[in-house]
Amino acid sequence: MKQTENLIVGLGIAGLNLCHQLEKAGKSFLVIDRCPENSSSLIAGGIYNPVALKRKLRSWRVDELFPTLITAYSEIDALLGVSTLQHPFPILKPIVSDDDLNEWKTAVKDERLVPYVNAVEESVPKGPFKQDVKAYVTIENAGFVRISKLIASYQNYLNQKGLLLQDEFYHHNINILDDGIEYQGIQADRIIFAEGRFASQNPYFSWLPMRATKGQMLTVRLPESVTPDRIYNQQFLLFPLEEKGLFRLGATYEWGQLDETPTEEATQELLTKVKKTLDVEIEVLDAQAAVRPTVIDRRPIIGQHPDHRPIWIFNGLGTKGIMLAPYFAKQLVEHIYEGAAIDPEVSLKRFGKHYANS
Ligand SMILES: Cc1cc2nc3c(=O)[nH]c(=O)nc-3n(C[C@H](O)[C@H](O)[C@H](O)COP(=O)(O)OP(=O)(O)OC[C@H]3O[C@@H](n4cnc5c(N)ncnc54)[C@H](O)[C@@H]3O)c2cc1C
Repeated sequence: MKQTENLIVGLGIAGLNLCHQLEKAGKSFLVIDRCPENSSSLIAGGIYNPVALKRKLRSWRVDELFPTLITAYSEIDALLGVSTLQHPFPILKPIVSDDDLNEWKTAVKDERLVPYVNAVEESVPKGPFKQDVKAYVTIENAGFVRISKLIASYQNYLNQKGLLLQDEFYHHNINILDDGIEYQGIQADRIIFAEGRFASQNPYFSWLPMRATKGQMLTVRLPESVTPDRIYNQQFLLFPLEEKGLFRLGATYEWGQLDETPTEEATQELLTKVKKTLDVEIEVLDAQAAVRPTVIDRRPIIGQHPDHRPIWIFNGLGTKGIMLAPYFAKQLVEHIYEGAAIDPEVSLKRFGKHYANS
């Protein structure tokens, strides 16, 4: 029988950050993941932005989330010998309408935004912008993580240590004990599910009010006039890949067909949005789709199953997994081992009524 303190199901950005925090705390763990070619984390843009651009406000809890984000991804990069964290990497937000321009002029004076947004520049930014782009703002303290590379490198790292089982996890094979669980020859103090959108198929957590959203990203080739030194954000996100001339373009939001199949409709939606702002020829090289694990109140979910004490969850990272995962993985580990409080806004306990009614 293999022994471990923590059996983790799922090695997306949630599971990966959990492993990292457990390793830092000197705790043992083992991960099971089917290691798909496609998942929400594998295709994500990986972008983090301290400003909620639509509402022109600071992003939720950004002052707490940011330091852990930079520390965690820097540490993981150093551990793996890669450089997936691109920080700082500015976001350029073009401004098209007069209303938007006036709102931004007011917003940038708000002291809560001052550390994050530069003054509004009332000129056309450098690049192939359409004439109706009148002004822009830049968010300097943003960036992105080359997330598929990060996950692939972390899989290798765990494989070398014998800590990753590439397999399907079958929930009906769990044997719940008084002080832990057993699963196919593994004995663990607890099991932590970090299954992303597949939580809805987990019999212990299928009662959670998830509201998953499908999203599509494209890999595109663009002319040199689109400089690869910033993230362009205008109802779309466009940022450079490592290979010269190649960019990732995303992302769509769809609530109907929740699967991993890219569609021509979503591709056209993205291209139309870009062409409203940039005057460029776009060559589409690839399209990928996946489903974000979003919760109805758009907050993460962490905590212990109400009845089965050895069963835990770390999920609900929604559209902001990169920024949320490091901080809340750390909080979960500190809760388990040091009794630190779980933030009520992300605690599983907030859905107690859903469980009682299930
Ligand atoms: C198009 C798109 C663009 C996005 N862009 C961004 C962005 O720019 N910035 C940002 O912060 N976020 C972005 N997101 C959101 C982000 O991807 C998610 O918040 C994040 O990936 C969720 O991570 P997760 O680990 O919870 O889930 P997942 O990435 O889905 O990982 C879950 C893992 O669990 C495994 N698993 C589940 N069930 C089982 C089982 N029974 N057996 C074995 N393995 C199992 C799966 O194989 C998978 O590897 C984007 C999402 C999409 C779809």
